[in-house]
Amino acid sequence: MARSYNFSAGPAMLPTAVIERAQQEMLEWGDAGMSVMEMSHRGKDYMSIAERAEANLREVMAIPENYKVLFLQGGASSQFAMVPLNLLRGRESADYLNTGMWSKKAVAEAGRYCSVNLAADTSEGGFTAVPTAESLKLNADAAYVHYTPNETIGGVEFDYVPETGDVPLVADMSSTILSRPMDVSKYGVIYAGAQKNIGPAGLTIVIVREDLVGETLGGTPAMFDYATHVKAGSMYNTPPTYSWYMAGLVFEWIKEQGGLATIGEINERKAGKLYAAIDGSDFYGNPVEKNGRSWMNVPFTLADAELDGAFLSGAAERGLVTLKGHRSVGGMRASIYNAMPEAGVDALVEYMKEFEKDQG
Ligand SMILES: *Cc1c(COP(=O)(O)O)cnc(C)c1O
Repeated sequence: MARSYNFSAGPAMLPTAVIERAQQEMLEWGDAGMSVMEMSHRGKDYMSIAERAEANLREVMAIPENYKVLFLQGGASSQFAMVPLNLLRGRESADYLNTGMWSKKAVAEAGRYCSVNLAADTSEGGFTAVPTAESLKLNADAAYVHYTPNETIGGVEFDYVPETGDVPLVADMSSTILSRPMDVSKYGVIYAGAQKNIGPAGLTIVIVREDLVGETLGGTPAMFDYATHVKAGSMYNTPPTYSWYMAGLVFEWIKEQGGLATIGEINERKAGKLYAAIDGSDFYGNPVEKNGRSWMNVPFTLADAELDGAFLSGAAERGLVTLKGHRSVGGMRASIYNAMPEAGVDALVEYMKEFEKDQG
């Protein structure tokens, strides 16, 4: 058996140790007489799995007591609607930082429910930079400020947390959650689809400050009301039980690695090696301004796009897969989330040097 180094942006690699643990527990979890997939979500075995996952996430992220953690479905894309439905609370407008393809989608969805003020918009520069803190045109009576700390497609990551005073800050952290320590108390809502840095697809994590729950827009479906899920402990309907269990194993794995401080150091080093390889050559390029370069998603182009196919097939021969860039950006993209071992980045860098020597 050979596991590739999978640079997919999502669904992405999971730690091998987590998959092995799931394999051991596949046929029978504990002495339950069945697999996790077959359990009632309301039985005591599954409840213990669910509670432990939440407790471990709270510990790993140091989530304050006055925040609820929800385990939902519908992906980050559903949150594009759930955020305005729950957070407008009688207000008419919200501030959005438009910094890439994902914030653009969030903006479009919010526009169905309120007037959207683009407090920043980096589309003219092709989404290759983070707007400066001083340039944000924040609106004091906005219901909330929404931003995407890490733009998965452009590979652009904020190097600061916007200051929004009393206006709640909302973050789509799908591709950066758990990549380093962060201060949850700065946010009103944090949400993330699981398939990048949390676990398998099908699960969406929402971390919401208590006081922001309970005042939805008229006509909001029960499933789109945070209060529904808070009241029911994320079990209003059948939750994505297996993905929730797998996420719990990932949280335990993060603790075993030494927590987010250690994970953050490893991620910084991994990204540093890859950017150094790109910057150290005339053959590879990355268009993102240095202060806004993502630790998680590293797009890069070859000097000659005609060589893209050869680069990809040579990489695949070495077990370096899913490096093709997003169709909107072209070139390559290496997503190097928590589960990508440093050895995978080393192997990619080595291959890049070889390829350049042979073809460049
Ligand atoms: C992947 C991604 C999404 C979409 O997530 P789904 O779970 O597929 O809806 C949204 N925002 C960001 C930043 C992403 O990386």
